[in-house]
Amino acid sequence: MEAKRIYVDHSATTPMKKEVLDAMLPYFTESFGNASTVYAEGRETKKAINTAREQVAKAIGATADEIFFAGSGTEADNWAIRGIAAANRNKGNHIITSAVEHHAILHTCAALEKDGFEVTYLPVDEYGMVSPESVRDAITDKTILVSIMTANNEIGTIMPIAEIGKIVKEKGVIFHTDAVQAIGMMKIDVDELNVDLLSVTGHKFYGPKGSGALYVRKGTKISPFVTGGGQEKNKRAGTENVPAIVGLGKAIELATEDIEGHNKKLRQMRDRFIDRILNEIPYTRLNGHRTERMASNANISFEFIEGESLLLMLDMKGISASSGSACTSGSLDPSHVLLAIGLKHETAHGSLRVTFGNSNTMEDVDTIVEELKVIVARLREMSPLYEAVKNK
Ligand SMILES: *Cc1c(COP(=O)(O)O)cnc(C)c1O
Repeated sequence: MEAKRIYVDHSATTPMKKEVLDAMLPYFTESFGNASTVYAEGRETKKAINTAREQVAKAIGATADEIFFAGSGTEADNWAIRGIAAANRNKGNHIITSAVEHHAILHTCAALEKDGFEVTYLPVDEYGMVSPESVRDAITDKTILVSIMTANNEIGTIMPIAEIGKIVKEKGVIFHTDAVQAIGMMKIDVDELNVDLLSVTGHKFYGPKGSGALYVRKGTKISPFVTGGGQEKNKRAGTENVPAIVGLGKAIELATEDIEGHNKKLRQMRDRFIDRILNEIPYTRLNGHRTERMASNANISFEFIEGESLLLMLDMKGISASSGSACTSGSLDPSHVLLAIGLKHETAHGSLRVTFGNSNTMEDVDTIVEELKVIVARLREMSPLYEAVKNK
């Protein structure tokens, strides 16, 4: 029998819960109606979509009419940035974001720069935190949008969103947060956070891939993302992906049921992992904040190590982890997040992200640590730089 693999890449994606699949299944077959039709089959799917809209709204303290379904977190981010930029162009052309956002935000902002928008990429401190004061200082009378993520996908840092939101609101600017990583990991309430727009994706909290939502506060001017039929209040046309929407609704309901209980387990694993690595393997450092971080996330730099080699050797031992964001692994550029917190290129290259989830146990933590001790020692044996340091 093949040994059980240990999956510790939950910030890349999560396996779908059985209950979510069960909720979705009827909408592939029996309940197939087009929700825009008037007869029974259509009314049935329309009702399912409405229920999901309420589930998403309830999970983030919004109302159902402020929830718009999208095809992914990336799409929700694109919609927020492009939709606000287009609808508010007459007010100004300045957008503020941070250097550590997901590429769904950064590459979208870069595209807008080509269209005449000006974008400020705020720096972060050594923990990956955006300071609320830096946001205040960056706002001008041309600023139409501020977009700062709720929690960072690579180093797990939780941003002071409520504080930033308060400042942005005082200035009368629209505030978006990419909360893709945060759902199910911390309490999210759009009013407490003072946000006008918020992005969500289902597959990061045990829901289906290709499901997402954008919260848009009532009264916020935003352009349609896809034009065509009248779906999503004329803002995202196309016959609804009802199974995905139903799955997103069910998954967010389950993910926000007992956040503290879920986190308690994760935090124990995360802390044991971090403590053991830092104590038992020399030349290591923790990236991100020690306490203001997601309960699931550990990001460690190992000096004198190539992160990709580390990942491959872990994979051979049945352990699935990441060296940054899933989207950047495979490329040779070091993570923009690790560079933004001040790491040297070499150090950034030797970084490992482990993100725990539902299926993990304390035993997994110890297995990973034991394997890492062996792998790191072996890789360092091959490093001339390490030899030089060791023999000093
Ligand atoms: C995963 C992720 C996204 C993209 O979501 P998809 O549904 O995979 O497109 C956006 N932002 C953050 C912070 C993420 O972690």
